[in-house]
Amino acid sequence: MNVIRPEQPRPLASDWDWQQDAACREYPTEMFFHPDGERGPRRKNRENAAKAICASCPVIQACRKQALTLQEPYGIWGGLSEDDRLAIINQREVRELTVASAS
Ligand code: SF4
Repeated sequence: MNVIRPEQPRPLASDWDWQQDAACREYPTEMFFHPDGERGPRRKNRENAAKAICASCPVIQACRKQALTLQEPYGIWGGLSEDDRLAIINQREVRELTVASAS
């Protein structure tokens, strides 16, 4: 079941056109999304392999922007893992709160 979070922009087909050029189209989805219970070195190795594919992807910037905008909860997107994206989002929120409290 697809759930659209109320605070998220509604996806438009044109927002996903960049996926036509995605390097990951040639690889199994399982490389980019962890199976249940995957931990430790196995998970890190899979993530690093996926990130290596992303590093040569011609649409990495569009992919990364979309994943951060939609706060994709799972998988490798734009060369970023779930933890990578969460760290960036948290840094942005701290920065915004700091700016807001200073003004
Ligand atoms: S950056 Fe990575 S996840 Fe995004 S489209 Fe390219 S290969 Fe796929």
